[in-house]
Amino acid sequence: DVTQTKGREFEDFFLKRELLMGIFEKGFEKPSPIQEEAIPIILQNRNVLARAKNGTGKTAAYIIPCLEKTDTSKPEIQVLMLIPTRELALQTSAIVKEVGKHMNLQCMVTTGGTSLKDDIMRLYQPVHIIVATPGRILDLASKDVAKLGNCKTIIMDEADKLLSPEFQPVLEQLIGMCNEAHQICMFSATFPVTVKSFCQQFVPNPYSINLMDELTLRGISQFYAYVLERQKVHCLNTLFTQLEINQSIIFCNSVNRVELLAKKITELGFSCFYIHAKMQQSNRNRVFHEFRNGATRHLVTSDLFTRGIDIQSVNCVINFDFPKNSETYLHRIGRSGRFGHLGLAVNLITAEDKGNLRRIEQELGTEIKPIPSVIDRSLY
Ligand code: ADP
Ligand code: MG
Repeated sequence: DVTQTKGREFEDFFLKRELLMGIFEKGFEKPSPIQEEAIPIILQNRNVLARAKNGTGKTAAYIIPCLEKTDTSKPEIQVLMLIPTRELALQTSAIVKEVGKHMNLQCMVTTGGTSLKDDIMRLYQPVHIIVATPGRILDLASKDVAKLGNCKTIIMDEADKLLSPEFQPVLEQLIGMCNEAHQICMFSATFPVTVKSFCQQFVPNPYSINLMDELTLRGISQFYAYVLERQKVHCLNTLFTQLEINQSIIFCNSVNRVELLAKKITELGFSCFYIHAKMQQSNRNRVFHEFRNGATRHLVTSDLFTRGIDIQSVNCVINFDFPKNSETYLHRIGRSGRFGHLGLAVNLITAEDKGNLRRIEQELGTEIKPIPSVIDRSLY
């Protein structure tokens, strides 16, 4: 149970009063296990490699100590939070601003797909914390508009995703621009071995936290239905009719399929939006915002929404297309079942997915059951 802790209180970390007020006003009463472990270590300026399940409060586990360390009397960038996708960066910066709202803190979010000029203008004003996707902040730092020389805390959320080959050289450059005496704190639910060589080189002597266990996916009931490719839409129709879905996220494996499926779902008479990485950023923002506010029940997406997105009313994830690897599977279905809530994951499996299904089950040590004719409402 993610709400089960050692019984520490937020007061026990000797945080600034304004910060404590922000935490409580956000509705956090007690630290979650990852918060109990990570907050004091990050406050000690150590490198951290923190692994904990999806939906267990990793975001606040790094935001709280970062806010505590920030000296708002100094008009300089002190914390850099690196985030792999634009929507997740927006979500994260919103939490920094909320929790830090009594601190007189300047937090800036900067991502691709927005006006570079606006970002440059913004940087004429003081900024204490930057939340960024890697490409844009590298651009600003290379132009010496964003000055990272005094930045001593680098957060990498969804760190393994950030270390994918496209991003890694960018990260290495960014780290080189930060203060020499920096700490790096890496967070994810998954740390594949590929992360190791980066850590050895750039994250010396990290304090490792691992709050994964064999019950990683507890709280999420996982089912599969065998279908032919051409039966998938019909099957989805049946699921929508029979399940009691608050909100659902439906994953496809390509941008084309996202748009096609969203069209079909709308034709079936269900309210549905779609979002993917090839859309204009202003549209992406609008869809993200409206889905979060409950303007539509279903969201069809690609792997853009696989990581980090936290929308508590999502109680069902559907893999319309089955993912290729276990990390993607774990992160996708982790969009439901957040912070102790229950969730449902339904996988549409074609003949060619069968092998993958078994392999992913094994790798995650979990069980994906054949879908019963009726799914007990108490499971989600
Ligand atoms: P993770 O990054 O581990 O997947 P998040 O940081 O997105 O998880 O947090 C999941 C949900 O839990 C969020 O909606 C967040 O507001 C909530 N949450 C986090 N910490 C606490 C806490 N200490 N008490 C209550 N709710 C919390
Ligand atoms: Mg997260």
